[in-house]
Amino acid sequence: MQSPNTNPGNPGEKAYQMLWDCRFCGTTKLLGVDHRHCPNCGAPQDPEWRYFPSDADLKEVTDPKYKYTGVDKICPFCQQPNSAAANFCKECGGDLSSAKQAAVRGPMDSAQVAGIRDDVVKMKFDAEQAAIKAKSQRKGLSRLQIALIAIVGLCLLLVGGYVVLSRSTYGTSIAVSDMNWQRIISVEQLSAQSGSDWRGSVPGDAYNRVCVARDRCHTESERYVCGSENVDRGDGSFTRRDKYCTRNKQVCVPDSWCSYTVDRWGFARNITASGGPNDTPVWPNFTPMRTSGLGAERESGRKEVLNVVFKDESQSKTFTYNPPNYTTWITFKPGQRYSVEVNRLEQVQWNTLKLLSAQ
Ligand SMILES: [Zn+2]
Ligand SMILES: [Zn+2]
Repeated sequence: MQSPNTNPGNPGEKAYQMLWDCRFCGTTKLLGVDHRHCPNCGAPQDPEWRYFPSDADLKEVTDPKYKYTGVDKICPFCQQPNSAAANFCKECGGDLSSAKQAAVRGPMDSAQVAGIRDDVVKMKFDAEQAAIKAKSQRKGLSRLQIALIAIVGLCLLLVGGYVVLSRSTYGTSIAVSDMNWQRIISVEQLSAQSGSDWRGSVPGDAYNRVCVARDRCHTESERYVCGSENVDRGDGSFTRRDKYCTRNKQVCVPDSWCSYTVDRWGFARNITASGGPNDTPVWPNFTPMRTSGLGAERESGRKEVLNVVFKDESQSKTFTYNPPNYTTWITFKPGQRYSVEVNRLEQVQWNTLKLLSAQ
């Protein structure tokens, strides 16, 4: 059922006659508004038979009494189409309060109207062909689904395997072979950087600005009238409305493209101090080469890395532990032996570390 909003007919607009062919006696090109019954055999007009005429058969609705009132109502008792304004069927007198609206044709490009009634046999055949095609496409989709399921299954297997291997652990003993620390200060420097942008986007503190006139272009989509389309008003009449298409067009406005210089802080270098187990950690000495103007330096961050290097009994594997703080790091001594759990992925479970003996 059509909602009135999707098929609005305005009483003021120019109305043309839809055509219909009588399927009882074969009379063709009957007028949708003027011929509510076949003038030849008296058969009632069926709204399903209406079609748009070709330009050669275009006829305006000229009856001065005709007024558009909406999509026809189909009498629920005798199937006769009635004016939307009617309350009772003009054929059988039946109450139209529960009547359904007549079928309405979708809008059609005026240039593509052939002006013939639908070939019902061909439409049925086309619909069947479309259904068969859709069915075979669904089969193709299921093959894709099988592939997706296989990929997901493989991923689950890999994740599962990873979890199993990481949970399965064995005990081993390891000894501290080395201890070291690094303290790093990151230094950034104020330097002149060149850039280029549209005039409105140049940073406020830029200098050495050189601008040249340049058109700034972008693409806009625009609607334009690209013909007309026939719109079925559902009462045996139709109207013609502008058909709109969209196209892209380039819009250019005069602007300026500027190159400029700007002073910005950027990463310059890291200064590192490092030491072994017997050296007290200290921060490296940082003295800025300059403190203001271009070339000025400043500290941008500090980082401490504490390493305890372990070797297993066969001295073939090395594991590095990073204690959370210096107080923990200093409790380790080279040569000390520990028991620890290692999983099948060779990942040491550092929370299982236990001191075995002190040398
Ligand atoms: Zn007829
Ligand atoms: Zn009726």
